[in-house]
Amino acid sequence: MLIFDAHLDLAMNALEWNRDLTRSIDVIRQRETGMTDKPDRGNGTVSLPEMRRSGIGLCVATQIARIEHNAYSPVFGWRSQEQAWAQTQGQLAWYRAMEEAGQMSQIKDADGLARHLKLWAETPLESSSFSSSSSINTAPGNGNQYALEAEQKPKLPIGYILNLEGADSFVTLKHLERSYEQGLRAVGPAHYGPGVYANGTDASGGFNAKGRELLKEMERLGIILDVTHLCDDCFWEALDLFNGPMWASHQNCRALVPHNRQFSDEQIKALVERGAVIGAALDAWMLVPGWIRKKTTAESVGLKLERIIEHIDRVCQIAGSARYSGIGSDLDGAFGREQTPADLDTIADLARIPAMLKARGYSEEDVTSIAHGNFVRFLMKAWS
Ligand SMILES: [Zn+2]
Repeated sequence: MLIFDAHLDLAMNALEWNRDLTRSIDVIRQRETGMTDKPDRGNGTVSLPEMRRSGIGLCVATQIARIEHNAYSPVFGWRSQEQAWAQTQGQLAWYRAMEEAGQMSQIKDADGLARHLKLWAETPLESSSFSSSSSINTAPGNGNQYALEAEQKPKLPIGYILNLEGADSFVTLKHLERSYEQGLRAVGPAHYGPGVYANGTDASGGFNAKGRELLKEMERLGIILDVTHLCDDCFWEALDLFNGPMWASHQNCRALVPHNRQFSDEQIKALVERGAVIGAALDAWMLVPGWIRKKTTAESVGLKLERIIEHIDRVCQIAGSARYSGIGSDLDGAFGREQTPADLDTIADLARIPAMLKARGYSEEDVTSIAHGNFVRFLMKAWS
């Protein structure tokens, strides 16, 4: 079954983690042996062949670069908006290189989406990929150990919709328009803490004047508002200020994991009323309460992939239907296997979610909706 993953930081992994995502996951992990610069070294879960092999043919892929804010910078931030802009442009250049290599294809309108779905529907999954991990010659002394893998061409490109996570990199609103011309179709105005345009996770306060202008301009261009990471004040303001399409690309339930990063039942209900789709995420601390980074392990708290079904099911129960729930895994979003369910090895494990939903009593139709149908329907409508 085709799976739509609504949130992956692919270019960030390529450029900041220096991961060649065209390689097998085994090679990506091997090459990080001994590296300690980031907590998730050697624990990556995402590669393009891994996505292809499990039918994750469509995703929302990010550009992401924030700036430092005096008092609060929980994650790395650039010292100027111009630097952040340049970083996102580098990320775009990587996506373009993947397009040229036939690895990915950018989807920015309804026709393109329809063509991509047809392509994937017509190609049997077995022939869409190559099993690269078995083909690597890792014998010591073989200088060409990655050559065999590199020679093989993917048969199907992964479709991606370009999304900006945190809008700090827009030096001016003209940069938003420029980005739209480059194919940008969704924007999350904030990330962690205060941002140039809006306040994100762990922050408070509504949109400033520039933020309100940003929302207006997004609405004019038909850009989707990604409400994920908006603090509660901005979230409720955005519902009033923004009349265009909105989704929550990687978002879990506060009722199950009490933290402002997650959305309350009231917020989920309000999103459903706006026709939003909510993508459930696989970052361990967003799945179970009380997770302490670098300390808690999935084994110690019995965290399994099945837990994501609780978050999906809660959205479906609040909505009274399965039409507003999807998957936005956020895998390799600055964390790896050390911070995912114990029985998840790679992103290919997303392909196990449909069977888990079926076992939970979801109909075939509902399972298809959650796997990809809801996000596809949302995009077709947003782009009609
Ligand atoms: Zn995020």
